[in-house]
Amino acid sequence: MAAAVALAESGLEVTVFESARQPGGRARGVLHGGTQLDNGQHILLGCYRQTLNLIEKVGGNIEDDFLRTPLQLDLNKRFSLKAPRLPAPLHLLAALLGARGIGMKDRIDAISFMSHLKSIHFRLDADIAVIDLLAFHNQSRQLIENLWEPLCIAALNTPMEIASAQLFLNVIRDAFSRSREDSDMLLPRIDFTLLFPRRAASYLESRGGRVFTSCGVESIEPLENAIKVVSKNGGEEFSHVICATSPTVAAKLLGRISGLQETARQIDALQHQPIYTVYLQYPHSVSLPHPMLGLYRRCSQWLFDKGEISGQHGLIASVISAEGLHQELSHEKLAEKVAFEISEEFGIRELPLWHKVIAEKRATFACTPNLLRPDQRTSLPRFFLAGDYTKGNYPATLEGAVQSGLACARLIEAGS
Ligand SMILES: Cc1cc2nc3c(=O)[nH]c(=O)nc-3n(C[C@H](O)[C@H](O)[C@H](O)COP(=O)(O)OP(=O)(O)OC[C@H]3O[C@@H](n4cnc5c(N)ncnc54)[C@H](O)[C@@H]3O)c2cc1C
Repeated sequence: MAAAVALAESGLEVTVFESARQPGGRARGVLHGGTQLDNGQHILLGCYRQTLNLIEKVGGNIEDDFLRTPLQLDLNKRFSLKAPRLPAPLHLLAALLGARGIGMKDRIDAISFMSHLKSIHFRLDADIAVIDLLAFHNQSRQLIENLWEPLCIAALNTPMEIASAQLFLNVIRDAFSRSREDSDMLLPRIDFTLLFPRRAASYLESRGGRVFTSCGVESIEPLENAIKVVSKNGGEEFSHVICATSPTVAAKLLGRISGLQETARQIDALQHQPIYTVYLQYPHSVSLPHPMLGLYRRCSQWLFDKGEISGQHGLIASVISAEGLHQELSHEKLAEKVAFEISEEFGIRELPLWHKVIAEKRATFACTPNLLRPDQRTSLPRFFLAGDYTKGNYPATLEGAVQSGLACARLIEAGS
């Protein structure tokens, strides 16, 4: 959709084929028994500039559409870090110096680590695992457990032991080293389908574009001067095609195109990590101390109070990123466990009225060191790849996906 919006803005006629009933993909609204949920609680950072620009371009208003808070990381009863309203990087320095739950030596070690990263422009000579980088820079176990591990899991959705230090540093650089607003946390007040893809579809249609939903692409066939896209609508020829599916589907589509089997194999080799979101609806009076709160050594990693974020009082979203033992539990047992943790941590005596577990088993690709990601440009002329998994500086995030789509649009505009 990012590519489509950019191309429509330049006056090109765009057609979007979407296999699902609604656009949005891995960031979409889900209606559950009359309550509007998302397929997973998403959080954006202020440094996701391309994504935020795009939402505004299609008619959104960032200040209305999001609950925007300055950087604040709280692990309930264990750790708290809050950035004051100072210019960057002073806001981070003050946040680390004032962090509660770690000793003075840890604060100094974290600050020295950050200044070292700045001195090397957040670039490593060779990519390694996040855990090895932290160990090399004397980050204590407590500092890792309270600060770096929750940040790494939230940013890369990959356990520190196998996560790419370089991709982690790219996010840290963009969030912490430029302006204070870059580290702001933005929580959507409306569901994701409304937030971007539905507006993007209207934007395209108002510029002569077409958006077909429930219309998956079955095959892509290169012709001499065009590329044929086959769907239930039949075959239609286009001058350029961008394949913007998830990596799993892209590998299947590309595997059947002569000359692209190697790229298909490269995409197929990507490993994936899950994200589980457990929604619990409590009576309306139930709330959490903050809109977003981490838990230490619990099954739930982050809790979101949807009452504060989107006015859905009593609704709590628990996010469990990356692989783990929770995957062995039934949805019923997982919801019970999360409810039990919430009652223990916050003394909430009420029981949830209902729950809904959404398990996205292939939520993101595993951001491992030195990962080979396919280029947006393929060996087939006028055929491109967009998506969070393609070549880029970001882990699997909305910003990574948007940057990739915009890169495809630029290549087409430049006459590739
Ligand atoms: C639970 C969860 C939580 C997340 N949290 C965050 C977060 O907090 N912050 C963040 O930045 N990122 C987060 N992410 C990651 C983010 O959602 C993804 O990186 C991003 O949505 C990927 O976008 P994409 O366009 O690359 O792929 P997708 O969103 O997967 O889009 C691919 C589209 O292709 C469609 N499609 C598939 N097959 C076909 C076909 N044959 N023909 C036509 N269409 C087809 C799909 O239906 C889909 O709409 C999260 C992801 C999940 C799952």
